[in-house]
Amino acid sequence: MKEPRLRLFLFFENESGMTANPAPHLEIYRALAKNNCGRCQLPSCLAFAAAAASGQKNLADCPLLDAAARERLATCLAGRPEQELYKFVKDLNQFEQQIVKLDFAQAAGRIGGILRDGRLVISSLGKEFAVDQQGQVHSDCHLIPWVKAPLLAYVTNPEHQNVTGHWLNFRDLPGGMERRNLFASRCERLLKELADQHVDLLRDLAELFQGEDATGFAADTALILRPLPHFPLLICWQAPEDDIDSSLTILFDPCCGVNLPAQMTLSLCIGLVQMFSRIAALHN
Ligand code: SF4
Repeated sequence: MKEPRLRLFLFFENESGMTANPAPHLEIYRALAKNNCGRCQLPSCLAFAAAAASGQKNLADCPLLDAAARERLATCLAGRPEQELYKFVKDLNQFEQQIVKLDFAQAAGRIGGILRDGRLVISSLGKEFAVDQQGQVHSDCHLIPWVKAPLLAYVTNPEHQNVTGHWLNFRDLPGGMERRNLFASRCERLLKELADQHVDLLRDLAELFQGEDATGFAADTALILRPLPHFPLLICWQAPEDDIDSSLTILFDPCCGVNLPAQMTLSLCIGLVQMFSRIAALHN
């Protein structure tokens, strides 16, 4: 199959562009009717803009905001947590300092890894990654920061929960609500477009990354992947039919909300979608 070529692409280094916006509430306010009509259940348009920027209100809660403006502003909202996330992902020193003090034997048992030659070895999508006591990660696969940061966050997280077999939306994970727009735009929407364009992609991902079919979901493809040992995610894709558009949802076992903070779950999914898009390019 594509294994030899895949190894060149797996976690290939590439920084994606950012869509930062310094004041999203002002951007939202500019687009509102500014008549303070109160139909959004808030006393003023300015209050609504602040609530929408912080994720407490949806843009759709203002009935006077048209669809085109909502779409444009969704990108603006997505830019704010991305800026915060980008800074966090780049600062890998924070994890390296924690790993120096980490008891590897204890951590291996907790996180579903093994100890080998003094290194903590964990499986990600069927590939091995070995962390040394200085916080360096060794593997045949090249790691981009979007994936390396969550991997180190997972290893150093003192909290841990085993897989439950249930599924949640990203917004229902702790910290997911305020990052849901960014998750939708950078992960679910992009992966849906890839799946729409390359109908065999999800099947190929299952084969390449030791994915499993999930049953009992109303979807044409329901695929479970394990980017970390105790971190299963479920991708459900429904093909377009007649005039109904396709849909794609990524669900998470509740343990994901304990085993990684939401910004790291987001980072991991952004990294995975980047990787999948390179694999999809091989389909052309
Ligand atoms: S419903 Fe829209 S126009 Fe009316 S107050 Fe709320 S934000 Fe302003």
